Amino acid sequence: MKLTHQRLEIYKALAASLDHPSAEDLHRRIRGRLPTVSLDTVYRTLDTFEQHTLVNKVPVVKGPARYDAGMHPHHHCVCARCRKIEDLDWQAVDAVELPSGSQEWGHVTNRFVQLYGLCSSCSKAEQPATV
Ligand SMILES: [Zn+2]
Ligand SMILES: [Zn+2]
Repeated sequence: MKLTHQRLEIYKALAASLDHPSAEDLHRRIRGRLPTVSLDTVYRTLDTFEQHTLVNKVPVVKGPARYDAGMHPHHHCVCARCRKIEDLDWQAVDAVELPSGSQEWGHVTNRFVQLYGLCSSCSKAEQPATV
């Protein structure tokens, strides 16, 4: 893969983001440094990165694709309301023995868990003002 200045800037912006941004989010963040870069270029660049396993797509249920430059094994917490995605380390899950069915299925190369719910600020907002 050719590492152009544009690609490098897009990668750096993603690597500096802990919030698993969408292509639109990243486009907004890099526009200051790369005023000529189009949203389409950001999409295509992220696709290329994914093909070269430089980034991961977070498998969210709804909404636009979200990207992750953190390639260490980790899990995610996804807020159903504000769509915030946070990393979660969960050694117990990483260490748990795989069920026998998985061996019959084939060779497992990675595993992750996604927790869905409301983040702390959304669950506070959800609480009624009076009880
Ligand atoms: Zn939230
Ligand atoms: Zn992540």
